[in-house]
Amino acid sequence: MEYRAYNSKSFKKIPQIQQFLSSEDIENIEIAALVFPFKVNNYLIDKLIDWKNYQNDPIFRLVFPHKDMLLTQDFERLKTLYKKGDIEALNKAIYDIRMRMNPHPADQKSNVPTINDKELTGSQHKYKETILFFPKQGQTCHAYCSFCFRWPQFTGMNELKFAMKEVDLLIEYIKAHPTITDLIFTGGDPLIMSTKLLRSYIEPILKANIPHLQNIRFGTKTLGFWPYRFLTDNDADDLLKLFEEIVAHGYHLAFMAHFNHYRELETDEVKEAVKRIQQTGAIIRTQAPILRHINDSSEVWTKMWKEQVHMGMVPYYMFIARDTGAQHYFGIPLVEAWKIFKNAISNVSGLARTVRGPSMSAAPGKIAVSGVSEINGEKVIVLNMLQAKNPNLVDIPFFAKYDENAQWVDELKPAFSEKFLFEK
Ligand SMILES: *Cc1c(COP(=O)(O)O)cnc(C)c1O
Ligand code: SF4
Repeated sequence: MEYRAYNSKSFKKIPQIQQFLSSEDIENIEIAALVFPFKVNNYLIDKLIDWKNYQNDPIFRLVFPHKDMLLTQDFERLKTLYKKGDIEALNKAIYDIRMRMNPHPADQKSNVPTINDKELTGSQHKYKETILFFPKQGQTCHAYCSFCFRWPQFTGMNELKFAMKEVDLLIEYIKAHPTITDLIFTGGDPLIMSTKLLRSYIEPILKANIPHLQNIRFGTKTLGFWPYRFLTDNDADDLLKLFEEIVAHGYHLAFMAHFNHYRELETDEVKEAVKRIQQTGAIIRTQAPILRHINDSSEVWTKMWKEQVHMGMVPYYMFIARDTGAQHYFGIPLVEAWKIFKNAISNVSGLARTVRGPSMSAAPGKIAVSGVSEINGEKVIVLNMLQAKNPNLVDIPFFAKYDENAQWVDELKPAFSEKFLFEK
């Protein structure tokens, strides 16, 4: 299939949009898209979205912005300015709304590492074993998820964008840090890059032959959004060859696939792509956030994890949606997320119980909601750090006062203590 993408300006040309949506629905998308720019491609349109039921279709909800992602007064304000054609006031309103949405959560910027006084501005080294690398040309995706906290990067707010073009500094840095075992390519989506470009990042790393570096990971949504990247794109075969080379150099190639719903696992294309990736020796692990309107039921997760294991993939993380973007629309209370997780995991075999979560990627680390319990007559939420800046804090249960509505750790209060474990 030839890749074709549509955005806020061109989506009205999509035949299914013309056929199935009312003019009011179309206008609502146009207005929501002022704040949440979107991109959708022909694979999602032709193979994944169930247009007859588009209003409740999880894939439609995943990629098209929705009116309710804006607060009513914001939506009405934008609509008025949009209809008036008052561009200056409109742009200001858009900017204000975006700024209120906390576009740079969990101090992503505070972990910029340095080597010999030079900043690796496209990297993040938060946990001693792993370094994240954001290749400059990998800062976009084959389509955009409507909930994505990376949207500031895609909307021309350049002061918030971090990316890096040179891999040499990165190699120097990894060499100087023997605790690093994992290098994670992330984005956006690093597999949006041509194989040639990706190769220009990977080959120097392979040549550098750093003994303590063991695992190379790609964090990617390409399997779900554009499986042809591994099938029929011009450089698909070369990409798989590059994977083979990484494996042949002795690395564990960890393909971290983002799947939000079991429906993304159902096409022949995705099934074939998974097989081809696995044949290179790569191991595919899966992760996704839990989101209202998209996957807020245990049945969805049970079915998704079961199918992933059936396809030879390894369920890895369930995340809590970040405290950013349209949190009021996608957000799920921590207690509810845990109940969904618990019900889902209790209906799969041990092979799918590799998954951990639901987890918040917060400033001090990854905090999992392990459950709800009662201690000395007090109802509490049990938390546990899966990852921490301070590794001594990992895997020690700690407690928050029960709160049915809290959606993020900063809304919780410690129980039996003045401070949370990670604040001490
Ligand atoms: C999740 C995460 C990682 C990877 O952690 P693992 O638990 O090893 O998968 C690395 N860096 C950051 C900032 C993360 O949030
Ligand atoms: S694929 Fe990932 S980075 Fe890209 S829009 Fe979706 S969540 Fe954001």
